[in-house]
Formats: sequence, C-alpha cells, structure tokens
Amino acid sequence: MRLVDLKDNEEGIIIKILGHGAFRKRITEMGFVKGKKVTVIKNAPLQDPVEYKILDYNILLRRSEAELIEVVAPSDFVANNFQRKICAYSKDCENDCHITEDITQTTIPEDLLKNSAKEKSRIINIALVGNPNCGKTTLYNIATGSHEKVGNYGGVTVEARETTIKKQSYTFKIVDLPGTYSITEYTPEELFVRNHINESRPDIVVNVVDAANLERNLFLTTQLIDMNIKVVIALNMFDELQKTGAKLDYETLGKMLGIPIIPTVARNGKGIEELFAKLIEVYEDNEPTVRHIHINYGKEVEKSIDSIKVLIKENPDISAKYAARNLAIKLLESDKTTLNLLKDSPNFPQIKQQTVSEISAIENEFKEKAETVITDAKYGFISGALSETFQAGYEDNFKKTAQIDNILTSKLLGFPIFIFFMWLMFQATFTLGSYPQEWIGIGIGALSNFVNDTMEYGILRNLLANGIIGGVGGVIVFLPNILILFFFISFMEDSGYMARAAFIMDKLMHKIGLHGKSFIPLVMGFGCTVPAVMATRTLENRKDRILTMLMLPFMSCSAKLPVYVLLISAFFPTNQGLVLVSIYLIGILISILTALFLKKYLFKEKDVPFVMELPPYRIPTFKNTTSNMWFKALQYLKKMGGVILIASILIWALGYFPRDVEFSRNFAQEIELINANSFLTVETKLQKINELEMEMQTERQEKSYIGQMGKFIEPIISPLGFDWKIGVSIIAGLAAKEIIVSTMGVLYSSPVIESESRQSIDLNNSKSHFNTDNAIPTARNDGEVLGLATNLQSQKHQNGEKIFSPLVAYTLMIFVLLYFPCVATIAAIRKEANTKWAIFAALYTTTVAWIAAFLVFQIGGLF
Ligand code: GDP
Ligand code: MG
Repeated sequence: MRLVDLKDNEEGIIIKILGHGAFRKRITEMGFVKGKKVTVIKNAPLQDPVEYKILDYNILLRRSEAELIEVVAPSDFVANNFQRKICAYSKDCENDCHITEDITQTTIPEDLLKNSAKEKSRIINIALVGNPNCGKTTLYNIATGSHEKVGNYGGVTVEARETTIKKQSYTFKIVDLPGTYSITEYTPEELFVRNHINESRPDIVVNVVDAANLERNLFLTTQLIDMNIKVVIALNMFDELQKTGAKLDYETLGKMLGIPIIPTVARNGKGIEELFAKLIEVYEDNEPTVRHIHINYGKEVEKSIDSIKVLIKENPDISAKYAARNLAIKLLESDKTTLNLLKDSPNFPQIKQQTVSEISAIENEFKEKAETVITDAKYGFISGALSETFQAGYEDNFKKTAQIDNILTSKLLGFPIFIFFMWLMFQATFTLGSYPQEWIGIGIGALSNFVNDTMEYGILRNLLANGIIGGVGGVIVFLPNILILFFFISFMEDSGYMARAAFIMDKLMHKIGLHGKSFIPLVMGFGCTVPAVMATRTLENRKDRILTMLMLPFMSCSAKLPVYVLLISAFFPTNQGLVLVSIYLIGILISILTALFLKKYLFKEKDVPFVMELPPYRIPTFKNTTSNMWFKALQYLKKMGGVILIASILIWALGYFPRDVEFSRNFAQEIELINANSFLTVETKLQKINELEMEMQTERQEKSYIGQMGKFIEPIISPLGFDWKIGVSIIAGLAAKEIIVSTMGVLYSSPVIESESRQSIDLNNSKSHFNTDNAIPTARNDGEVLGLATNLQSQKHQNGEKIFSPLVAYTLMIFVLLYFPCVATIAAIRKEANTKWAIFAALYTTTVAWIAAFLVFQIGGLF
C-alpha cells in the first residue's frame, strides 16, 4: 500500500520510494528510507499536506508525494496470512496455536512488520523497453522461461506481458513491452510504453539495445535519460557486434550515460545472469555507474528548458510525479500529452504562453522546428558518445545482408522467388504431412473399430463413434500439416525473410496506392488472424489500421488449412500444392481488391511515405522454431478438446434427434418382407436390407433438426452447388474454421445401421462384411485412411448425382477462404476498431465469399 493510504496514528514501514530520481533523492534526504518506520500524525480526508513522524521529526508531505512511497502497515495483513505469521513468529505457540479473535484489533509486533517490509522490498518491478526487433521478447523468454512469440521484424509484441521469477533472494516482475523507436505519442505503442513507465512505475527500466544498431537504438535511451528514471542497458545481439569485428568500450559508454551496460546474447542466454545481478545492485542503490546526467541541448534550448521548468515546478503535485526538466523538453517538442497533463495546473496559461514564446524563439534562432532541434541535439550527443567508445568493424553485417537482398528482393527475381517459397511451403505441407497424417488416421480408424466392436449398439456408441471420433478425429489428423506450415512461417519470420516478403509485396502494393507497412500484419495473417489484427497497431494512421484489418480475413489463416487439405486430397489427386497456392493467392488478390475498393470509396486520404525496415538476416534457432511448433500443437489440441468437441457433439445431437421420424415409406415392413422371403440367400437379404436401411437413415438425417435447418438455408447456397450438409458445416464454421471439417465428419459419416430387424436374421457369420456403424471406415490395406475424404467422394444427391465434384470442392474452398473469419477475429476487430467496423467486416466478407463462390461455380460449370 502507499503511505497516503494510512489513517491517523497508523504506522508503516517503508518498502520503497517510487518516482523519478530527483524526487527520490529529496525524499531520501528527508529521512524516508527503506525499512524505516513512519507514523501518521494527522491525515484528514481533505487535508494536504499530511503530517508524518519519522526519526522523531515531524514532517509535512504532500499527498502526491506520499502517493509515491510504498509501505507495509498492520492493515495490510489479511486475516489468514496474519494468523499464520503470528504462529511463525511467537515463541510460546509452536505448533497448536489457534488465534481466532478479531485480529484487526490486535497490534502487530514490529519485527513482524519489519520482516514483511523486508520481504516486500525484495520485489523488483522491471520493464523491458527498446526498439522493435532488438530481442526484447527473446530476452524475456529466456529470462522467465516463457514462450512468447518472437520474430525477425517489427511489431511482433503488441501487448504487455508479465511474468514473475525468482533470482537470488529477489522476486522480479518482468513486463515485456511493445517495441518503439522513441517515447513520444505517434503510435499507440509509444503511448502505451510511455503510460506504462509513468503509471505502473517500474523500479528499473531495462533498455534493450541492439548492439549492431547503436546509433538508432540509443535515441530511445536519451529519452529515458530525460525521464530521470533508473535504467540498465542490456546490450543485446552482442554476438553480432563482435562478429563484425567492431569494438565498443561499453564500460566507458555506460559511465558517460550514467547507465550500467551489460552485454547480452539473448538467443543463447549469455549475460542474463550478469544482467540480473546488475539489476539487484542498481535496485539497492549500490551501483557506482548510476547517475543522472543532463543531455546538453545547447545554450538557447537549455535556457528555454529552464524557464519552463521553473513554472512547472510551481506545481508540486506534478513535479513529484514527473521530472520537470523532461516535461519542459516535451513541451518544447509540442507534445500534446504533456500539455494535457498540465491542463489543470493553476499557472497553466502562463506555462502555455511561455512554451509558445520559447518555441518561436528557438525556431527563429535555428530556422528549424524546435522538435527537430532537440532531436538533432540528441543524435549529436549519441554520436559524440560513440565516437569516443565505438570502433566500426571490418566486416559490415549489413553488407552480407545487402548481398543476399540483391538476389532475394531484386526486381527480376524477387517475386518469382517469393512465389517459389510459398509453393515449397505448401508442397511440403502436403507431402511431408501426409505420412503422419496417415498414421493418425489408422489410429483413429482402429479406435472407431474398437468402439464398435466392444460397445453395445445404441445412443452412446453412436455418440462416441459418430459424434466424437467422427468429429474430433476428422480434424485431428491435420495436426501434422498445421505444424509443418507453422515451421515454415516461423522459419521465415526468424530468418528475416518475412520482412522481405512484405517488402516484395510492398513494391507491388505501392503501385496501387497502399501503405506497404500494412503487409507485415497481413503476412502474419497466414498463421492466425487474431494476433495479426492486433499487430495493425504498429501502423501510424488509424485509417490504415482499419483498412488492414478489413483485408486480413482474406489472408488464409491456418485454421482453414484442414478444409483445404481434406478437399484437395479427396478431389485433386494431382498438383495438390499448386491448387493450395492458388487458394492463397486468390485470398491475397481479394484483399488487395478490398483495399482498392475501400481506398476509393471510404478512405480517400493520401498516402504518407514510409520506411520499410529490412532487418539483417539471422539463422533461426532450433529452439525457438521447435518451441513455436510445440506450443502451436498444444493450442491445437486444446481447441480439439474444447470448442471442436462441443461443436461435434452438438452437431451430432442435432442430427440424431428427433428419433420418432415419420418416414415416407414403411421401411420396417419392407425389411420384414425381405426377411420372410425364403427364396433369397442370406447374403442377398443382407444386401437388400442394408440398402433399405441406408435410405432410411438418409431420410432420418434429412428430417432431423439439423436437416431441417440445412433445408431452410439450402436456397441460399444451392446456387453455389452446395447441399444442405455443406450449408450446415459452413454455419458451424462461424465459431472456428476447423469445425467445418468436424461437422462434415459427423454429417457425412456412413449412415448408421442400427435397426432391430438386423438382430432378427442370422448375422453371426456375416459380421465381418458389415461394418457400417463406423464414422470412419476401417483402414484398408491399400493405405486409404482418410475415411472422410472417401466418404465425400461417394456422397450422392437423391437423383444419384454426386454431390462433390472438383468444381464444387474448389467453390467450397473459395467460400471458406473468404467468408466470415471467425468469432475471435470479429471480436478482435471490434476491440481494435469499433463495433461498426466489426459488423461491416462480418457482412462484407460473407457477401464477397458468396459472390466469388457463385462466379467460380457458375463460370466453372460452363467448361
Ligand atoms: P523484439 O521485437 O525486440 O521482441 O525482438 P525478438 O525477441 O522478437 O527478436 C528479434 C530477432 O532477433 C529474432 O529473430 C531473434 O531470434 C533474434 N535475436 C534476439 N536476440 C538475439 C541475440 O542476442 N543475438 C542474435 N544474433 N540474434 C538475436
Ligand atoms: Mg517482442
């Protein structure tokens, strides 16, 4: 709790002082030191300042100041906790102590309080701050044992993540923040990082710096210096710096900046222990390097800073929380957030006026915007510091990268190579994936047989075999394919090729007036649309963000892959990779057309030029790639056990009930007639009865609840060549795309033969011929394991025509590619944009899907 929360006469032990350096220094000098006892003399609700007693002195503190002092007080102790602690600390109640009285009335022994304060003062809050792609998340993962996503391009981490770990006797709460080039207010991330530092007040900011990119990375450092907070630099990618033969005297540089610098290689964990040791030293104020320096902005600007600073300092509440010098600098940079912050100050008009006149004085003097003058001074400071400590290497890391780029992003070869990589990825997804897919299929077939052989026929067996094994089993066979796809995506992300892919597409997209930076979230969309929607936050302009979000559903996500794999392996025996690539390309094309359309009619704004960053190529680590795949697999299995299982059971139940269907023919009687016919052999009887039962089951399914629903929507989808079962699958797929496959697995399972009539004839020696109660037929020797695929091939309309042709299958893939993404995506769009755009996205995608599928089916039908 904070000191300001204590009531009259209450006492507390100081845990730590938050806030910027100047404030901490002043407060410490007044005697407010970690571990010391403070007593409240008088703290009336509206009273400011509050009177405290510390070290036998009475001292007045403003509420805003007491707000920044963390204490532990008797009222902190929750009942249970307190009892346990009392037992632990009092000598005369060793084992069987039972204090049950109202403990809030009890006074807490001081040593207990002191101990608790000591414990709490060993919690260190850390925030990781740095440029995009400098290795923050890698460092976070290795330090905390987490598995957050890393990627060799900007904008991978879009939200803060927090983990707690123990090191030595300290507890570290570490937050991984999104990457930023500076702490201003241009992008949502910058504001996010800035707010985190100002509101959550980490004890130490770990500034992760890319050693191979010092100049640009240190710019952010200069802003942290201005904020006057505790900083430690993790000089990451130190391996890359060394590889180029460059030399950096980081100790001297650290002394110049007043910030300790620890070289790290986050990829293999080098320097991490040293980093934590340093963090403890800095936290305990035992580190000699730490000091607050002022970056010199030149005489003119410094004069302006001072004149504004004086005015800001007239507001003690503000200057307790923020370094006044930093606010003054921000004001000179025309920072709106800072202006807002000071809005309620009594002397705000004066501050504002002073700011305006100082800005114009600077601009008159330098003939440049004040903001630029300050930025230039910062870069001047950096190059000054580096010229004394840094010696460039003989081998430029970027040279090698440039050589590779000459080929991979060249005008002539770039695009074909990109297409080739896509083709390779999808081909591998198929050919490599088909083996494990087959094994899983055999396992599921065996399981299904086992259930049919061992269980009594009835509703439970039907649920298990058709509902659960048919539904979930139908999807789970695609796990290997998904993993292979993710292996490739992860490899491309990590090596740096993904950024090139974006770059190659960017050139193309630029021609049609699109912001190329948008392409990075678009490429991420191949994996999963939800994080991709969140990644649009990296774009500076809101309209670009919305536009990109609306394009994203067309970038085929991995959940749609099972649908494609199923249909392609059933209906396209040759050129499978090519068919798959064509689907993805159509998705890309539609998203580009979407952008063109929306740009023309909704967002008529002009483009701003931008810089597309090309990070150096890096060899992906085996660990990162495999851990990515492993987590993807876990996620997939969780989905199987959760939403897909539930959907399968639901679809099964809707298809199983009602049981008392009125049939168009008297099947039972017909069966009996055959049964009684003594001219027929047992074999013929069984065959005839079997046929009749199939027909009966088909009719039953059509008259089931789901059949009725399907028939209801049939008019909408029949122009696309779909039957009602496809319609139902499509609707079920609104929740998640894999459900389309599981639904088909349930609906297109072989009709269930379970009439009692079967029992009346002698089936003893014919059991082996009839195995029709299976959702998935038994694996046959010819290696045909994808039961669902075979089932689809043999599905017929009532008139005997096949339901699926390659054309219908392709139309269905197009529809699935384009229609309503999934509930999670729409929710993400709603969160990032607003409800209106979320609704628009849902309607727009579905309309586009219908039109495109209609065109494909109708035009394709002509050939
Ligand atoms: P973030 O954007 O700052 O979170 O950066 P990431 O953690 O996503 O890492 C970006 C890329 O740099 C990934 O490809 C990492 O594998 C790679 N990387 C991270 N740390 C190091 C390092 O110390 N040395 C080298 N050579 N590569 C690293
Ligand atoms: Mg990151």
